[in-house]
Amino acid sequence: MPGYYVWTIGCQMNKAESERLSACFAELGYQPVETPETADLIVLNSCVVRQSAESRVTNKIVSLRTVKKQYPGKILAVTGCLVDSDIPLLKKRYPHVDYFFKAGDNPPWLANVMSGNSLPVRPAPVTYVPIMQGCNNFCSYCIVPFRRGRERSRTVSDITCEITELVRRGTREVILVGQNVDSYGHDLPDQPQLADLLTKLNEIDGLFRLRFLTNHPKDMSPRLIEAIAGLEKVCKQINLPVQAGNDEILKLMRRGYTVAQYRRLIAQIRVKIPDIVLSTDIIVGFPTETQAQFQDTVDLLSEIKFATVHVAAYSTRPGTIAARELKDDVPQEIKDERLRTVEKLQEQIGTEINARLLGTTVEVLVEGRSKGKWYGRTRTDKLVFFPDKNERLAQLVNISITKTGPWSLQGKIETKAPQGG
Ligand code: SAH
Ligand code: SF4
Repeated sequence: MPGYYVWTIGCQMNKAESERLSACFAELGYQPVETPETADLIVLNSCVVRQSAESRVTNKIVSLRTVKKQYPGKILAVTGCLVDSDIPLLKKRYPHVDYFFKAGDNPPWLANVMSGNSLPVRPAPVTYVPIMQGCNNFCSYCIVPFRRGRERSRTVSDITCEITELVRRGTREVILVGQNVDSYGHDLPDQPQLADLLTKLNEIDGLFRLRFLTNHPKDMSPRLIEAIAGLEKVCKQINLPVQAGNDEILKLMRRGYTVAQYRRLIAQIRVKIPDIVLSTDIIVGFPTETQAQFQDTVDLLSEIKFATVHVAAYSTRPGTIAARELKDDVPQEIKDERLRTVEKLQEQIGTEINARLLGTTVEVLVEGRSKGKWYGRTRTDKLVFFPDKNERLAQLVNISITKTGPWSLQGKIETKAPQGG
């Protein structure tokens, strides 16, 4: 999910305004993040009532010049009392700021987004594009269906138009997002499936890579697996949250599949797409989870060996079925211990999987610079760092891997890969 960062100084009005903006961004699928460096969207809510406040605002704007230079795809906007009637003057003074909008106004790019049309158009090599909102599943622990409502898909033509425009503006990789992308389209008149959408998007000239999140094990169709296998722009990568490796827990979670069914699905995928990269989500410490049930999850992770595991300790979300019907009875220390167990296991598995890449050459789409190095991702979603003096942003480059770790790889540049692959 894309992230937003709202920085606020000033009075209660500004704080309320920032909360309103944050709620809007969250509604649009953005996650709050801690730093401007990790955000896709940065909003500074300014105050100029005292000189000290104004200086802090201008220092903050100036300090973000470097961040904007390193990550040109980020949107930087300034609102609040600094933004008076003379916006052209502000634009001239701070050309790295994308938008100035007056306190209380809606961000200028939001009208477009609110109409359901598109995410902000960002000339970034990698862009998230929502293909649907909401979820119909009601897993017992999850607040999403209550907050985001039922599934609503965008049409194939709408999504295609948006992505064509994004590509025209510099996007090279698109990550299609939805809570359950396998049920994409069932609410539309001609009921297109995700496989149809991918087939259509695969034809867009200038687009190098397509990814999508999140799949649901109970809904993944053989047709989608065929599409992933056959479409050259679609990265061979599937995020398939299992949540738990024990049937009783899965039942209490209301996930709609058993561990055996999940295993079979993985086996089918691996037969059709031998080089598939799998990732998953796990919740530890779900109500009533015993040590033995937790061990089932650990065993499943050791067996399947996912490339990435997102693990969270269960927390009660008011309004959900689990909050109503199940007591949060696993003590916090046990949850923390189980969390660490999964993280440690995954560190070993990640180290093992990544070590196989030592000495190989991988194709990297360069996303930005950090600590003096370029970084980007392989088609298999590995984060790779490499030094190079030349401008590399948004380029596809071949990198030979010289060092591997559990979370990322280091390498050196070979020749430039042909653009388009
Ligand atoms: N639609 C996706 C992901 C939804 S939320 C799916 O079906 O998996 C993202 C992740 O947050 C979930 O996969 C789950 O692991 C975690 N999560 C959701 N609710 C949670 C809760 N109440 N406590 C702990 N983790 C939770
Ligand atoms: Fe929907 Fe995912 Fe939440 Fe289940 S976990 S209710 S599938 S969003």
